[in-house]
Amino acid sequence: MTHPPVETAPPAVRLMVRNWQSLGQSVGVVPTMGALHEGHLSLVAAARDECDKVAVTIFVNPTQFAPGEDFTKYPRTFDHDLALLAEFTPDVVFAPTAASIYPDGFATSVDVGPVARGFEGASRPTHFAGVATVVLKLLNIVPGDVVYFGQKDYQQTVVVRRMMADLNLPGIVRICPTVREADGLAMSSRNTYLTPVQREAALVLSRSLRLAEQMYVTGERGSEKILAAIREQFTSEPLAKLDYVAMFAAGTMDEIAHIDTRAVVALAAKVGETRLIDNTHLGDDLSM
Ligand code: AMP
Repeated sequence: MTHPPVETAPPAVRLMVRNWQSLGQSVGVVPTMGALHEGHLSLVAAARDECDKVAVTIFVNPTQFAPGEDFTKYPRTFDHDLALLAEFTPDVVFAPTAASIYPDGFATSVDVGPVARGFEGASRPTHFAGVATVVLKLLNIVPGDVVYFGQKDYQQTVVVRRMMADLNLPGIVRICPTVREADGLAMSSRNTYLTPVQREAALVLSRSLRLAEQMYVTGERGSEKILAAIREQFTSEPLAKLDYVAMFAAGTMDEIAHIDTRAVVALAAKVGETRLIDNTHLGDDLSM
């Protein structure tokens, strides 16, 4: 299969997208940091199904990593990514250099406010400013009609929706379900950091979320009991250190004590040096 066309220059890709739109074609955008797996590919497949043209962006964004985080060791597998993408025939892969995104003198940062402060934002205080700023920049460069994100990064979906609404970005956001390995582990580019023993331990994330789902199905609606059961699961897995677990009203970062309609339980844990996140919906079907 031939590789998809790659573009590195922001003005060229913007022109390409504008030309498609001027012909009445809809454009789906899938922002990624590369090291693609089936989770990413599910977003590309959704864009392919729903839009006339598909643009995938691959950019390991330095500003969403804090000093000391894994920016330098983050997996970079560009040729393999292109081979994986070929099946989905994206119309362009935008892979800019860091210098073209952050030229000398670059100084702006987008603060999305309270939804970006707690949870991931508390553990990684500069993370969401980096995410919001780069997503805004990417959508200015690749101004698609629909932009695709994964449910796996729950708080990111809330932050991006807030930013896009607050700043009047025209694109529609589509959130796609989390893709998992056969044993339940949420797919993540960071899973490659795990040793076999750590990978086994990492199953406590998805296992504890399945337990929460079972409690919900059998009638439990209180967050206290559900979150306590999750914490208990982690005590039986010494290699995994729970950072936080919380229940939110779906689509928000508002913590709730009781599930009335729809909720999200989200958690983060460290397995060795690797920080992993996962979440699940409780309640009505939440396809968005
Ligand atoms: P990343 O390359 O990690 O920044 O992820 C790019 C996009 O893929 C984000 O919208 C993620 O939420 C999404 N994504 C990552 N892992 C998964 C997964 N296991 N299932 C679905 N989407 C995912």
